[in-house]
Amino acid sequence: MIVAIDGPAAAGKGTLARRIALALGFVHLDTGALYRAVGLRVLRNGMDPSDAAAAHRAALALNPADLSDPALREERTATAASVVSAHSAVRAALLDFQRNFAENPPGGVPGAVIEGRDIGTVVCPNADIKLFIDADLSIRARRRHEELRSNGISVELAEVRAEMAARDDRDRNRADSPLRPAPDAHLLDTTDLDIDGVFAAAMKAIGGVAK
Ligand code: C5P
Repeated sequence: MIVAIDGPAAAGKGTLARRIALALGFVHLDTGALYRAVGLRVLRNGMDPSDAAAAHRAALALNPADLSDPALREERTATAASVVSAHSAVRAALLDFQRNFAENPPGGVPGAVIEGRDIGTVVCPNADIKLFIDADLSIRARRRHEELRSNGISVELAEVRAEMAARDDRDRNRADSPLRPAPDAHLLDTTDLDIDGVFAAAMKAIGGVAK
């Protein structure tokens, strides 16, 4: 069984995906980490994320250790990720890994929860259940700001909000695999919902399919 979760930054995809995976005994893949790892490699190579050839080389050179680098969570990495992710060659280089993970979940478990921007539309168009998680920009910026501060990173709320708006705009308006709900996705707005409310709504949608 494949559960696809898409949505903009800080809408609550990650927390929800981990909780669903735990409840169902499925594996979880955060595909944003793949794009962040490509962006980080490009920055560390001293290259420009808008350079398609440099970004493609970084995507081909990815290795599992890249995915546990703490610098993946930095805002400069998020911005670089959203620039490298607009290059079709980068997306193509990461596609097989994501599809293979979805179709053959590691450890022989019965399913996978995959989160990103294009999972329900491009990576797994045949997913059993598709969730599109959204929330108002101001709420998402506040959540990310609190998360950064609790990790000891001091940054202005206005700066987080502006960076997030620019990133969402790039993700929604790129030509290849833009962020948008699949026609058959369940839409969940988390603006006024806490994690328990989001989880309950998601499990209700999944329960309808699993029966
Ligand atoms: O989910 P996260 O915020 O870690 O993603 C970082 C960036 O990676 C996104 O802003 C987006 O540009 C890119 N991304 C993507 N497709 C995915 C997952 C992430 O383009 N499936």
